[in-house]
Amino acid sequence: MTIKVKDLQFEPYISQHLINTRVIELANRLTIDYHDKNPLFLSVLNGSFMFTADLMKSFLSPCEISFIKLASYSGLKSTENVQELIGINENIDGKHIVIIEDIIDTGLTLKNILLQLKNQKPASIKIMTLLFKPEAFKETFEIDYVGFEIENKFVVGYGLDYDGNGRNLDQIYVLK
Ligand code: 5GP
Repeated sequence: MTIKVKDLQFEPYISQHLINTRVIELANRLTIDYHDKNPLFLSVLNGSFMFTADLMKSFLSPCEISFIKLASYSGLKSTENVQELIGINENIDGKHIVIIEDIIDTGLTLKNILLQLKNQKPASIKIMTLLFKPEAFKETFEIDYVGFEIENKFVVGYGLDYDGNGRNLDQIYVLK
């Protein structure tokens, strides 16, 4: 069924059932890969909140979970737009990090996050994303765990927003 989010029409794209099945598969893989590593999961807000909650409920080994965000602020010069990584209060030196993203599009956001995390000398960093748009991706880093590869189209729901709305939708919709 077509839905309206603000001024735009969206149609169903990935069902709740498909998402749930895939999320459990991803969690099972993580449980195996990280059973002895006590990983620190870093969930990138806001879009990843729903995916992270579902994923973590099916992760069955010891772990830590925290939330991060890239906050834009203007630098001293008005032309400088700096993106600062906020939310890491713990020492990540020597830890096994898994970044949890909702969607990777061009990859620029994640490149920025990776650069800032690597400075803090974790033991390893891997990337988990629910959605990946291969046609839009412009970076060279490897994405270790992908839920669904999707077309280069705008999607909402299951945490993802259109202009702040639609995050609560229980499945993923695509712009009509
Ligand atoms: P990137 O830096 O990889 O180009 O973009 C990543 C960010 O752009 C995501 O975290 C998300 O906030 C936003 N984004 C990219 N594609 C979509 C999309 O199809 N739908 C929504 N709602 N956000 C998107």
